[in-house]
Amino acid sequence: MMRPVRTVLIVANWKMNTSPTDAGELAGTIAKATDERLVRRVICPPYVSLAAVGQALAGTGVEVGAQNVHAEVSGAYTGEIAASMLVGLASWCIVGHSERRRDQAESDELVGRKLIRCREAGLTPILCVGERLEEREAGRAEETVRRQLEGSLSVTAAAGGIDPELVIAYEPVWAIGTGRTARGADAAAMADAIRDSCRELGMPDAGSMPILYGGSVTSASIGEFLAEPGIDGALVGGASLKVDEMAGIVARAALTARARVEAPSA
Ligand code: PEP
Repeated sequence: MMRPVRTVLIVANWKMNTSPTDAGELAGTIAKATDERLVRRVICPPYVSLAAVGQALAGTGVEVGAQNVHAEVSGAYTGEIAASMLVGLASWCIVGHSERRRDQAESDELVGRKLIRCREAGLTPILCVGERLEEREAGRAEETVRRQLEGSLSVTAAAGGIDPELVIAYEPVWAIGTGRTARGADAAAMADAIRDSCRELGMPDAGSMPILYGGSVTSASIGEFLAEPGIDGALVGGASLKVDEMAGIVARAALTARARVEAPSA
């Protein structure tokens, strides 16, 4: 059967790092060092740096994303940012990152409402899912991820349908910022489970939905994940703040992107 040719995507999550001035400079340098048009590149700086990064990236082909959004449209939520406020500043948005699930106790249901806000504002969502170490060790990794997907996507399905642009990042919690990565084969097995689960939840086209791996990805480890046909790129944290690392990651991603374009059914 012909597999859909899915774009290869590298997303940089800068977390709570960089001032607006530094962010603009770093984004411009990364854009130059990663000039591979077959790879879709997205940089997600802190909110206060979105404008500077957007200016630095104008004309480079690199897109801008936010790291989070509020679940409500507007209102008395001091310090928060609504999806509509991001229009013109970002075209992507990370939702449900495990650091927010951990630190802000974000539930699957809340994450589902954030996905609705993204869709209303035309932001392409990157939904993060992933199991904790004890869940993997207990053989419950897949069950955990399926539960997260169901908890969020059933909310969006009931509110008009799952966004056809949805991107999912499979990020095992034990691999984020630890220097430990999943094995490529385990990430690929999870990607299969994610697509199955999404089909069951009402996404008949889940086969064409991009799935990223995230968790301590570097230029040295990205190849193991991109060797898996079911994995379409990476969500990169720590290494995405380093120009050389990003250059290496995107260069490796370009090999996969080129191979997919040249041999779409391979
Ligand atoms: C992330 O922030 O989503 C992430 C995967 O971080 P790191 O690459 O640092 O593990």
